[in-house]
Amino acid sequence: MSRFALGLPPLLALSLLVPIAPTRGEPAANPPEQPVAARAADATSDAELVKTAQGMFADLKLVTLENGLRVYLLPVKGAPVVTTMVAYRVGAADEEKDQTGLSHYLEHLLFKGTAKLVPGDIDRATQRSGGRNNAYTSEDMTVYHFDFAADRWEIALEIEADRMRNTLIDAKHEFEQEKGAVVSELEGGEDNPWDLEYKAILPLLWPKESPYSHPVIGQREHVRGATAEVIKRHYDKWYHPNNASLIVAGGFDPDAALEKIKKLFGPIAKTELPPRKKATFYPERKEPVRKEFESKFDVPRMMVGFNTVQVGTPEDPVLDVVQEILAGGKTSRLYRKMVEDERIASEVSAGNYAGRYPGWFAVNVELLQGKDRKKAEELAFAELDKLAAEPVSDAELNRARRKILASFIFARESVHSLCDAVARTSTYPGGEDVAKFFKNYLDRVAKVTKEDIQKVAKQYLVRNTSAIVWSVPAAPPQKGGMQNPEFGTKTEQARALPRAPSHVAFRASHAAPKSAEAGTSGFSLNAAKKVVLPNGLTVVLLEDHRLPVVVAAAEVANVRLREPLEKLGVATLMGNLLEEGTAKHTGKEISALIEGTGGSLSLSSSGGTLKVLTPDTDLGLGLLFECLQAPTFPEDALERMREQQLSSIADAETQPRTRAGRLFNATVYGNHPSGRPALGKKEIVEKLTAADVKAFHKLAFAPNFATVAVVGDFKTDEMVKKLEALTSSWKKSELSQPEVAPPPEPKSGEQIVSDKNASQVHVYIGRLGITRDHPDYYKLLVMDNVLGTGPGFTDRLSSNLRDRLGLAYTVNATITTTAGKQPGTFTGFVGTFPNKFLDVKFGFFKEVNKLRDEVPTNQEVEDAKKYLLGSLPFKFTTLSGVAGELLAAERYGLGFDYLEKYRKEVAAVTPADVQAMAKKHLDPKTLVLVAVGAIDKDGKPLEKEKK
Ligand SMILES: [Zn+2]
Repeated sequence: MSRFALGLPPLLALSLLVPIAPTRGEPAANPPEQPVAARAADATSDAELVKTAQGMFADLKLVTLENGLRVYLLPVKGAPVVTTMVAYRVGAADEEKDQTGLSHYLEHLLFKGTAKLVPGDIDRATQRSGGRNNAYTSEDMTVYHFDFAADRWEIALEIEADRMRNTLIDAKHEFEQEKGAVVSELEGGEDNPWDLEYKAILPLLWPKESPYSHPVIGQREHVRGATAEVIKRHYDKWYHPNNASLIVAGGFDPDAALEKIKKLFGPIAKTELPPRKKATFYPERKEPVRKEFESKFDVPRMMVGFNTVQVGTPEDPVLDVVQEILAGGKTSRLYRKMVEDERIASEVSAGNYAGRYPGWFAVNVELLQGKDRKKAEELAFAELDKLAAEPVSDAELNRARRKILASFIFARESVHSLCDAVARTSTYPGGEDVAKFFKNYLDRVAKVTKEDIQKVAKQYLVRNTSAIVWSVPAAPPQKGGMQNPEFGTKTEQARALPRAPSHVAFRASHAAPKSAEAGTSGFSLNAAKKVVLPNGLTVVLLEDHRLPVVVAAAEVANVRLREPLEKLGVATLMGNLLEEGTAKHTGKEISALIEGTGGSLSLSSSGGTLKVLTPDTDLGLGLLFECLQAPTFPEDALERMREQQLSSIADAETQPRTRAGRLFNATVYGNHPSGRPALGKKEIVEKLTAADVKAFHKLAFAPNFATVAVVGDFKTDEMVKKLEALTSSWKKSELSQPEVAPPPEPKSGEQIVSDKNASQVHVYIGRLGITRDHPDYYKLLVMDNVLGTGPGFTDRLSSNLRDRLGLAYTVNATITTTAGKQPGTFTGFVGTFPNKFLDVKFGFFKEVNKLRDEVPTNQEVEDAKKYLLGSLPFKFTTLSGVAGELLAAERYGLGFDYLEKYRKEVAAVTPADVQAMAKKHLDPKTLVLVAVGAIDKDGKPLEKEKK
């Protein structure tokens, strides 16, 4: 199985779809790895890991009902949440070739209702219980899920039982409106890197009639042309109990649950399922098949694909190991060769996509601007050839195995991802006995040999049978002359994560559930301890011994505020260099050490995070603190990171959503540092020196500017001693709080940037917002939920603009999300079509005015409050989540008992308060609008040739 089974890719894919993403989803396990000398090949502890990982499913019980429905029950002791999933064994692979995209479209329609439920009911019912729901579609499956607090989860069963056979697909249930959302999702996806490459490679890998030759989201014309009858036929073919699994995981009583499940699902009749398609293949190729197309972005991207195997075959875990060796982290071969040594690429990634049918293996390379494509291709294939020709080293093999095993343990933190692993696996051939399937997989991972790797590489990763897709920028990058001052969004990632192609199409795009999680048994932040060390470093600690995992998160305050305007970009560059070499270790040693533990370490201009298994705590903390305190900023790494940063600057400018976000921030913030692009400006970054970077590190990084939260499996007093020893030579700074001029007063205005290459129009509407300590914060939290951040699509903007009018796939608005030490923004975002832009603009302002002019209903405000209160446990369900909350409590001086205040304040908000907030904070005369897309200055669609 690919790492799919751990539930990571959908979260990555989700993050691709979210425009103004606050931290969400699970921290996608960063590069793990293996001890160089410190621990060498550690067979015993790998065996222990296998045992621990296999033990995760020890309590899993399978009961198959008479109608064929497989029921999986996985109680997790002490978990305060329950996740319920229904996985149907139908996906894009089961679609007819002249009607693609139906499975995903249908997934959206399952939220629209039945005879008993009208559109909006499912989301409202979820909201009122403080839960979350969502769904995704892949090639092989369609999976629906609900996450609820453990005392109110059973409503999920009622909804799932009802919609399994009773979903109504017709005009009354918003069939046409939803089409707008689906088409918008499809087009928005195409504004993301790697989407068009993924769509282009599939038909090169498989002949047309083969199950995997089309993208999950479908072809535009099929989605546009889909009728209710066609979708209904698809539903009637595949949505039956004998084609589904129901999974319940978390803090529930399995006997009572089973009884209820039998009552609700038992009466649904089974049926004869249609025969499945057969996979077909091209005759064996003698040379690579290629496709090249003009990119809308500024850097070349290469995707190489190889036909491979089915999930569950002996080769599958070997390909997972190969994926790690090639592109898993900084010690991987492609990273070392192409990013570090040759400096030709800014990122590399690989993916093993084994599926219900024989799948594929992908290698993705994003080149630095202007680099030689032919050379890049040669380098990548040379690495693949080498894998077949020579055995890998012991260190590489151990590292790869350990990463895969450790990921299993880390995944157990979350009930949601545990449940998802069962759901996915249950749909695979041979996956019915999920525990056994995982046992085999883990045993095989632990036993993968060097010979296995050579054999698999020789057989599958062969140049002459590959498919190669290149997307190439239209013209050589133009020099200088940006039309707008370059400004960065708060969420801008200077160093993008390697992204997998998005195979998974999601229904929702905002208010996305942080994956609901397990195990906050009797959890309270009140137990946290705060200690200030002699050098001024603030340490916050909270023990949690449920899993052998330790998480540490360090945050350095005010870094961006200290960045001099004439050195803009130096903070990002400095942050990216922190792990590239220290007084004690070279960059290569650091990545080898941390990746050898299977854990992760990541540093940035605002601090660093660490996640390790308990036995690796000392090693991990040692690395984290030497990177923070004693980085050496080696010249070669500096040049490499500079080049990457310059390439990102150029590429970001061609991404319509990023452009819109930056222009919006620049407009709202004026000269305030929050309005500046974190990546900096080309002409400045080109000239930054090692001395600049060192000086900035010295200026901005000091123990008395920093807070470290440590959560997990350790003893508090021992940990404090450890941290004191680790930071004893880190010297206090005498500098005081930086002073910055306040941002300008809000005023209205409209800026439209015509971009004929953008598929969507990306619209930002907003103004300067509030700080976290603003007295209106809790009232605004409720307002946000009523207007634009409700769960599912319960808020006004989603239910009207998206669901009722079908104007967009993505609509949201919030003022509290970005509230920090510095003022955030009120940000409304809409991704829409060129011909709908004017309607969207009208509709957005109409909703804002309505909230100002009329008191919202009691019901609406009560629902929002119930959601905010009921969903609180979800913030504290992973160790990383807890560490984040502790840092926030410390950053804003909230106190560890702030949850009580949160509950009290939210409970007290009235409908009149919400209206008053809208009147005070959302005056349309203070809102700016920024749009980037294929529209002209008047907001009318640009003429362009039909696609
Ligand atoms: Zn969708």
